[in-house]
Amino acid sequence: MDCLFCKIAEGKIPSKPVFQDHRIYAFADIHPQAPVHFLIIPREHIASLHEADESHRELLGHMLGVAAEIARQKGLGNGYRVVANIGPDGGQTVDHLHLHVLGGRAMTWPPG
Ligand code: AMP
Ligand code: ZN
Repeated sequence: MDCLFCKIAEGKIPSKPVFQDHRIYAFADIHPQAPVHFLIIPREHIASLHEADESHRELLGHMLGVAAEIARQKGLGNGYRVVANIGPDGGQTVDHLHLHVLGGRAMTWPPG
């Protein structure tokens, strides 16, 4: 399968690692939208949250927990945002499930 984030998780395309274990990989976003902006992806190819099923529940919880853990390590105690863009209307551009973690500046609401 020709998937950018699968290749990044496998190390076939270079990235700046933030965290990794046997289930997930976190790396710096190439076009950061905030002073801190990294992505968390499962090593397993899942197209989006929409395609995740009950067997992925623990994995999804792990991704969120790691998001918070890294945010604590990066000193984002004043707040940050965790975003999942899903499908065309959600603005998803890479069809491999990922969480954005953005911080280091005040966010606005509503999102565009
Ligand atoms: P989304 O629009 O939610 O699908 O987010 C995809 C994200 O992947 C965007 O924020 C891109 O900047 C980021 N991105 C695309 N290619 C790379 C890459 N090679 N390394 C790191 N981040 C990337
Ligand atoms: Zn993939």
